[in-house]
Order: sequence, then structure tokens, then C-alpha cells
Amino acid sequence: MEVVALRCAGCGAQLEVDADTDNLTCGYCKTPQEVVRRGGTIALKKLGDAISRVQRGTDKTAAELAIPRIERELLELETGRRRQLEAALRITSRIGLANAVIGMVIGFAILFFVMIGMAGAGYDKSILIRIVWVLWWACLLGSVGGYLLLRVARRTDLAKAKALRDAGINGECDRQQRVLRQQLDRARAVVNEH
Ligand SMILES: [Zn+2]
Repeated sequence: MEVVALRCAGCGAQLEVDADTDNLTCGYCKTPQEVVRRGGTIALKKLGDAISRVQRGTDKTAAELAIPRIERELLELETGRRRQLEAALRITSRIGLANAVIGMVIGFAILFFVMIGMAGAGYDKSILIRIVWVLWWACLLGSVGGYLLLRVARRTDLAKAKALRDAGINGECDRQQRVLRQQLDRARAVVNEH
């Protein structure tokens, strides 16, 4: 059966509601409410005035119950935000450059043995061994230079990816925090009215 998460219209608690339910009473604050489906949205609404008048006496109780729960949810939200922000971020980028560096390291090793082989075979004075020697140096410098470049590039990429991710995390946490703070203000106002 499909279950939807809805906010209680009385205390704001998250309630798991079966998709085909029409009426329910909140397990936290005992507010009777109906499931209102309109234009693709689904929400909880307190039941009519007569019942709500009977219910009003418990509104203060509901609000008093809601305050510590909302405060706890706010704390959990902060803990969750910190944990998400501190989580390690792994990125794969600059694959082309990384492959080029690996290729040059392999080339460096192969050319080394090619030079030994050529020298052993009596090619040590030939122009060919000089060409191989130049290539060997090119691979050596390319490997070191490429590796350093790769490190800088990856650090920049990581900083960018982290800034993007953190902005998403903070945006979502700030949004949830605003909702909870509004509920908290409402609950405190109800408690203070009485
Ligand atoms: Zn409730």
C-alpha cells in the first residue's frame, strides 16, 4: 500500500498516512483531521469547527508536546547538516590528463630498457639512441609536470564540487529550519495565549 508523509495540522509532526485514508487522529496531539486531496496535492486539515471547538482545550497540550519535538528536530537538523558537510567528497575528473601521465610513466620505463638494450647491441653512438634519450627525458619531465598539474587541477575541481554540494545541503537545511521555526513560533504562541 502507498504511504505518504504528511504534516499534522495540529502539532506539525510528520505522519505516515495510507494513500486511501480519509480521516485520522494524530497519535501525538490527538487532533482529528481529514486528508484533503486537491489538484495533485495532498494535505491534512483539522476537522470542522464543532469538533475543533471541542478540541481547542487540547490545543495547548498539543503545542506543549510539539515544542520539545520541534526543538529536537531542529537540533537533529543541525547535526545532520554538519555530518553531511563533513562527509568526504570523491570526484573523478581530468581523466585525460591522468591517462597522459600514466602513459608517460610507462613510456619512461620502457624507453629506459630500450636504451639499455640499444647500448648493449652496440647502438650507443648512433643517432637513434639520442632520439630515444630525448624521448626518455620528455617522458620524465612530462610525468612530473603532468602529475603536479593534475594535483592542482584536482584540488580546484574538488573545491568547486564541494562548494556546489555544500550550497545544496545548506539550502535544503535552511529551508527545513525555516519551516520548523515557524511551527515552533506557532506552538509557543498557542502556549502563551492560555
Ligand atoms: Zn499532531
